[in-house]
Amino acid sequence: MVKVEEYHGFVQCQYCHQPISHNIKTDGEFKVVYVKCRCSRS
Ligand SMILES: [Zn+2]
Repeated sequence: MVKVEEYHGFVQCQYCHQPISHNIKTDGEFKVVYVKCRCSRS
């Protein structure tokens, strides 16, 4: 489990407008967590 210390928003897919990545801070480090948007599912 990833503990999120700060949330810095997300990036939207320009096609389906679903989130494709979340910008978070965890354990003192900035990380980008990529998620699958609607049109990248196969
Ligand atoms: Zn998409």
